Amino acid sequence: MYDVIVIGGGPCGSVAAKETASHNLKTLLIDKKQHIGRPVHCTGLISKRAVETLKVSQNSILNEIKGAYVHFPNGKRITIGTQEIKAYVVDRETFDKELLLEAQKKGVEVNLETEALNICGNKIKIKQNGKTKHLTADVFIGAYGARYSKRNLFTSLPLPKKILYGLQITAQYIADDKNFVELFFCSHYSDCFFAWIVPINKELSKIGLACSNAIIAKKGLKNLIEHLKCKPEKKPIAGLIPIGPPETTVSGNILLCGDAAGQAKPTSGGGIYTGTLCSQIAAETVIKYLNGNGTLREYEKRWREQIGKELKWGMIAHQTLVKLNDTQLNKLSNIISQPSSIALIKKIGDIDYPSSLIKRFLSIPINWKDIIPILFDSLS
Ligand SMILES: Cc1cc2nc3c(=O)[nH]c(=O)nc-3n(C[C@H](O)[C@H](O)[C@H](O)COP(=O)(O)OP(=O)(O)OC[C@H]3O[C@@H](n4cnc5c(N)ncnc54)[C@H](O)[C@@H]3O)c2cc1C
Repeated sequence: MYDVIVIGGGPCGSVAAKETASHNLKTLLIDKKQHIGRPVHCTGLISKRAVETLKVSQNSILNEIKGAYVHFPNGKRITIGTQEIKAYVVDRETFDKELLLEAQKKGVEVNLETEALNICGNKIKIKQNGKTKHLTADVFIGAYGARYSKRNLFTSLPLPKKILYGLQITAQYIADDKNFVELFFCSHYSDCFFAWIVPINKELSKIGLACSNAIIAKKGLKNLIEHLKCKPEKKPIAGLIPIGPPETTVSGNILLCGDAAGQAKPTSGGGIYTGTLCSQIAAETVIKYLNGNGTLREYEKRWREQIGKELKWGMIAHQTLVKLNDTQLNKLSNIISQPSSIALIKKIGDIDYPSSLIKRFLSIPINWKDIIPILFDSLS
């Protein structure tokens, strides 16, 4: 009998489990994988804030990022950068393992190669060493990521609004500046998102994209590799990015967090900061509840207060981007490249909270004049 069982040993599961165990709750974390963090389905770009909050060790950090080159369909490249470190590239395998180790140090029991099959009341059916058995817990935290084909076995909770298909290679690519990421907004690579180059060092980069389906993603990546004339190191890795949280993320004694709850940022697909922020809130709610204060529903209210509006604005920005064709993207590049826009991005751009920039951008009269026709075009 456990107080809490956490399903999933990714960053969100480990953060939640560490917190509940730190408050003397008997916590079990299960993961169906044999090796935590493998295979890697992520670029590992996280903000400086996330590195500090999650106390990421130097062992996990591969590179520092200070800015971005943004490419548009007409070949225009806009440089947005500062001298400051804005983000880091982390090695996801090391990062995930270290977070799990921290949780174990606080007393979390970890069962790997253990798959959750079904939850009914306070019983969970699991598969371990080829055998099924039942465990019991007062509360379950579902941090089982994006591949939730088994979601309906756990709960009747609705699914996130949209799934993006990510595809990425690690390739030899001589970056212009190893501290700058490159973003490509162009239908040749993605039908609904963007393509990226995230340098690991001067010679090696993670090159990828996200699209509305796997076939388009494959074609887009082929086009990008041809354009960059780069040499892939290994086979591409694929992963899903759920965006747009469902209406509810709590059902009975089950709380969902991270990708399972569609908490990644719709503007960038980054889910580590937002997901772990929510999993920390999930754990705090469970601690209060099991100590006889409050209800599990408070989780829903609290995480939405923290980042609900941010994710809603992100979804609006995403839906608008989806509708823009290459001509409209080129028009947008004219607005973004204005010195006032670049200055604004440098001043208030924040990869974890992009909505402030979107709102401020719309508040510049000259931008309204230029943006409104594009928005009307794209929404019609
Ligand atoms: C191509 C790509 C690039 C990305 N790049 C970035 C980036 O640069 N920055 C960023 O912040 N985010 C990025 N993301 C998103 C990021 O990877 C996720 O948001 C993050 O991993 C979510 O963490 P999580 O703990 O919710 O889920 P996960 O990390 O997916 O962990 C879920 C765990 O649950 C386990 N599990 C699943 N089902 C069960 C079950 N039934 N029983 C037991 N265990 C189970 C899985 O084995 C897994 O270990 C990217 C995603 C993709 C696809």
